[in-house]
Amino acid sequence: MHIIHIASELAPLAKVGGLGDVTLGLCRELSWKGHDIDIVIPYYDCIDSNQIRDLTIVNNDLLSYYAGEWVTNTVWMGWVENLKVYFIEPHHPRHFFNRGCFYGCEDDTERYLYFSRAAMEFIFKSQIEPDIIHLHDWQTAAIAPLYYNMYQKMNFVKPKIVFTIHNIDYQGKCSPADLDNIGLNGQAELTKDKLQDPSDPALINLLKGGIVYADHTTTVSPSYAKEVLTSKEGRGLETTLQKHQNKFSGILNGIDYSYWNPEIDRYLPSHYSSREIPANKKDHNTLNKKAYIKRYVRERLMLDEAHRPIVGCIARLVPQKGIDLIEHTLKYALANQGQFILLGSSPIPAIQERFHKIQHQYDGNPNVQLTLHYQEELAHQIYAAADMFVVPSIFEPCGLTQMIALKYGAIPVVRKTGGLADTIFDVDDPTKQSPLGNGYTFEAPTPAGLESALSRAFDCWFHRPEEWRQLKINGMNIDYSWNHPSDLYLNIYIKLCAKSKDVS
Ligand code: ADP
Repeated sequence: MHIIHIASELAPLAKVGGLGDVTLGLCRELSWKGHDIDIVIPYYDCIDSNQIRDLTIVNNDLLSYYAGEWVTNTVWMGWVENLKVYFIEPHHPRHFFNRGCFYGCEDDTERYLYFSRAAMEFIFKSQIEPDIIHLHDWQTAAIAPLYYNMYQKMNFVKPKIVFTIHNIDYQGKCSPADLDNIGLNGQAELTKDKLQDPSDPALINLLKGGIVYADHTTTVSPSYAKEVLTSKEGRGLETTLQKHQNKFSGILNGIDYSYWNPEIDRYLPSHYSSREIPANKKDHNTLNKKAYIKRYVRERLMLDEAHRPIVGCIARLVPQKGIDLIEHTLKYALANQGQFILLGSSPIPAIQERFHKIQHQYDGNPNVQLTLHYQEELAHQIYAAADMFVVPSIFEPCGLTQMIALKYGAIPVVRKTGGLADTIFDVDDPTKQSPLGNGYTFEAPTPAGLESALSRAFDCWFHRPEEWRQLKINGMNIDYSWNHPSDLYLNIYIKLCAKSKDVS
């Protein structure tokens, strides 16, 4: 099967959060299973091109329509982690992707609308006819109505459209005129059953357009798929999702264990696995090496070498992630003989400022370390060094960090919501109905709720080390790889393709 993924992120070279990991991991697994996979992303100027192999120009003169004129683009092709990637570089005077950042520009909707049309022009003009075009989030959602209203009318009818919502909080709202700019009829789309925003009838909602026009929409965990059908979590799109429920499902994200794996991790000073006794004398990568990395990271971050558990947290610092509870974890760890490491940055200036203040307040404290920017290498080392990993999200579509933490032997302490509830099961669950306990969970998004889980984790770490060790080993051996989720995506792809054959 030939599948093209069109996205705004691709790890490791263009990553802001989980979307980048998912594009890489899912595509890699599909490719391993023998499918023909192409990825199309913007050619951001901040991409580290050292991570691209054999980068060459495949089209120096791709014309794409924007705001009444045809604009030239260069399309590059190169290999990222052995996947074929096309990069679209617009030669528009507004330099849409030469901004030194991925997101956060005032004209983000215009930038990605431009990209959506250019990506479709590229596929159409190259006469590539994939079976599936898989879109991700609002940034590429406009491709669904473009395909239906424009390209299908030009007899480009083979591909089916799959659309994945990674976070319904981000919807891409714009004016009908913005849609006109890419050749759609904005006014014609401004109706309840099409792209009209449910809360502001004068606006277009791009995410809604993906849901309405895609052949199938997914989101990133079964629990979140249920939550977004309710008015509490649907962010105004619950009615649209309910209407299209027969083509909507939740598939849990996986983890790419060729990238996130302490046995082979390229960023770790030493490797380890869940093995306890070397199978042969040459095999020294046992679980005890985790302690070495803990010492290494403490030295790197100037933390005390002491008998204290390290609580790690790696997150985009946005309200969704439970900002107050992250700060409370720091206080709890300090008051209870623990250490706290935070790696995170915020697109919201007030939150970034708040954490800078906290950083300043604890400057020189040997038990706290805050790093307030994006740093891939440090992230890998923190997962490896941490004993516990806190994810106190208010809501969480899937969450990857808790699953990565498990693989690195850091026990997750998470709020029971969305994908966190689908992946982390409390060791003390009195009903014992869930699968084998692999972490600590809490329900109330309050300091008391958080402490109800953290205190049990601390208690086990200090007083029942053997139990803790077994918990680590069990967690490291859980399979949250892409193997099963990619089969679920393939089932959807196959069903859609079979449907189109029935029709023809
Ligand atoms: P979201 O997509 O909401 O940001 P996820 O849990 O799905 O949350 O994915 C977060 C991804 O981003 C993980 O791979 C995590 O390690 C990474 N990450 C988040 N913040 C940083 C940071 N400051 N530095 C490095 N990696 C980060």
